Amino acid sequence: MFDEQARLAALHDYQILDTPPEPEFDDFTRLIANICEAPIAAINLVDQDRQWFKSEIGLGVRETPLDISICKHALLQKGLFVVPDTTRDPQFVNNPLVAGDPYLRFYAGALLETEDGLPLGTLCVLDYKPRTLTPEQEDALLILARQVIAKLELHRTTRSLREALERNEKLREELQGRQRELLSLNEDLTRLATTDPLTGLSNRRVFEGSIAQELSRFQRTGVAFSLILLDLDDFKLINDRFGHDTGDQVLRELADRLRPTVREVDLLARIGGEEFALLLPDTESEAAVEVAERLRLLVAGRGFAPLGSKPVTLSAGVTTVCADDTEASVFGRADEALYRAKDLGRNKVLAVQPTDIGE
Ligand code: GH3
Ligand code: MG
Ligand code: MG
Repeated sequence: MFDEQARLAALHDYQILDTPPEPEFDDFTRLIANICEAPIAAINLVDQDRQWFKSEIGLGVRETPLDISICKHALLQKGLFVVPDTTRDPQFVNNPLVAGDPYLRFYAGALLETEDGLPLGTLCVLDYKPRTLTPEQEDALLILARQVIAKLELHRTTRSLREALERNEKLREELQGRQRELLSLNEDLTRLATTDPLTGLSNRRVFEGSIAQELSRFQRTGVAFSLILLDLDDFKLINDRFGHDTGDQVLRELADRLRPTVREVDLLARIGGEEFALLLPDTESEAAVEVAERLRLLVAGRGFAPLGSKPVTLSAGVTTVCADDTEASVFGRADEALYRAKDLGRNKVLAVQPTDIGE
């Protein structure tokens, strides 16, 4: 007639068994007991080996074993199952609830049936004396049984909606976590792509971007910028004498020494092995030369820890942007200035402007 496994699965899916009493279900038993003028009423769910009452009046227990259940017989037929006098029915005459306390005589149950036609239990009324129901009472029992099923469905739907919401919330949190990870990964990548790993200064790529930016600002607004190229003198000799690792330490110490002396708007970058560039926005030639001189003294004036008394010096080439300049021409002029500073014997600052070229 029906698949018992499917029936039990459907019943358990409502997650109603062993839940506490709820007024909205108790209303049904009170109402049907009143309408049928019966001392006992129950919403009775038939589990594997017990019948469990979601709501009951007049029974005083939440469940009883299935083998003495009258209700289980009601599962086998659609609609109403009525036993007017249990003592006259061979199925029930020997039932301990009939033969002994509480001496049940009358039973009427309306099937609680799922949409798929699986019987879960009954909404039932019982009495201690043989009797019948009026057609109106039978109607009420059937109508309220449908309402009980509707209430169970509502419970289940509400529960699955709540679970879906919780799942959504969890997913949203997970997504946010991933986004945060991605953002921080992105920051790491940006740092990697823009920073020189040895000194922590900006790298050549950032320098090239910045010089392009400053040039276009100059072309738009006429605000001039200057460029200083710095190159350590005879660094090869330092490496040869003290080793490459010590050379690295000197490069790091140099960066740490120069970094705090430049303005926030300036860009100090390592653009080659022992070559650095300082881009000075909104700075004319004279001021730029002063800055370069200050940097030169900052290096030559004080020794470097790992080198003992061996002095380190640098040479600097300075230039300031002018009309018709390109990135390459500005850089080329600063490089030319650096070359001349080296040529003059190193540890020097030299500035070159377009008019100086070809002297
Ligand atoms: P000059 O005064 O003409 O600039 O002489 P120099 O020896 O500094 O110039 P050169 O271009 O001949 O050599 C640069 C040296 O810088 C070569 C290399 O040993 C060293 N160098 C380049 N990159 C690094 C680096 O990352 N770490 C260390 N320790 N040394 C480097
Ligand atoms: Mg060099
Ligand atoms: Mg050098």
